[in-house]
Amino acid sequence: MQNIDLHNHSRVSDGLLTPTELVTLAAGNGVTTLALTDHDDVQGLTEAAQTAGNLGIRFIDGVEVSVTWAQHTIHIVGLNIDPCNIALLDGLAGIRSGRMERAEKIANELAKAGIPGALEGALRHAHNPNIVARPHFARYLVERGVARDVRAVFKRFLVKGKAGYVKHCWAELGEAISWIRGAGGVAVLAHPGRCVVGRDVMDRLLDEFVEAGGQAIEVVTCNHTSDQVAFFAAQANRRGLLASRGSDYHGPGESYLEPGKLPPLPPQCVPVWQAWGDLTLH
Ligand code: AMP
Ligand code: MN
Ligand code: MN
Ligand code: MN
Repeated sequence: MQNIDLHNHSRVSDGLLTPTELVTLAAGNGVTTLALTDHDDVQGLTEAAQTAGNLGIRFIDGVEVSVTWAQHTIHIVGLNIDPCNIALLDGLAGIRSGRMERAEKIANELAKAGIPGALEGALRHAHNPNIVARPHFARYLVERGVARDVRAVFKRFLVKGKAGYVKHCWAELGEAISWIRGAGGVAVLAHPGRCVVGRDVMDRLLDEFVEAGGQAIEVVTCNHTSDQVAFFAAQANRRGLLASRGSDYHGPGESYLEPGKLPPLPPQCVPVWQAWGDLTLH
């Protein structure tokens, strides 16, 4: 039986595991096709592909691109990308270059809230100094005893309206989709249930995503309720979009679901992997 998981992180971005550890865990869970989709960086793909080859599972090159759309942060996953494509690499480098300045601002805000040393603290948790992300700050805050775990940190800090949140301008939706498609990939709207609030905004996002060349949405992802799975499956079908399935796994203790431990796509969906040929390994 196929078990396809197309959204996972390693410590090349804000995951906890090395690419090798991630692929090994996924393979142990029975995943037969795995994508690594680190935020704004493709550095982990070579190692992950090699480990997947050694373990006899299929590997898909991926990335998760940070985008600002109508003042909302949304994420576009690129699947089956060419990780050497220059326009894609340039685009991702541009996004990464903004992260350090943002990290400094986050640290300043936390210092004002009485938590000093957050930049140095977050950097100690970031294995890739080019990707300092909010989970690295969250891990530092846990380490300081400010909150019990990363999830608890995000309830009190680092999100809109709370200490340590700073506004940031990521890539534009259209450019992110064109980098992914230009690199031969499929552009997938990640965890749509977590993107925006309100039916009107969601409709507008899906309209603009399709108009800009978006091809798929993640129907099954870690925190979609069964109602959301049904809703996005219907949206995908109505709009002629492919459907993806991905756990958005970040690491032990920080994710509800391990790689591959997700419900299947609803049967009426057209899977994003349908065009990728026979996924059965011989
Ligand atoms: P950044 O790209 O630096 O804004 O960090 C975004 C990452 O923070 C996401 O990819 C998640 O891994 C994590 N994150 C965002 N919101 C939450 C939350 N409410 N609880 C736990 N992790 C979160
Ligand atoms: Mn993340
Ligand atoms: Mn995401
Ligand atoms: Mn993700």
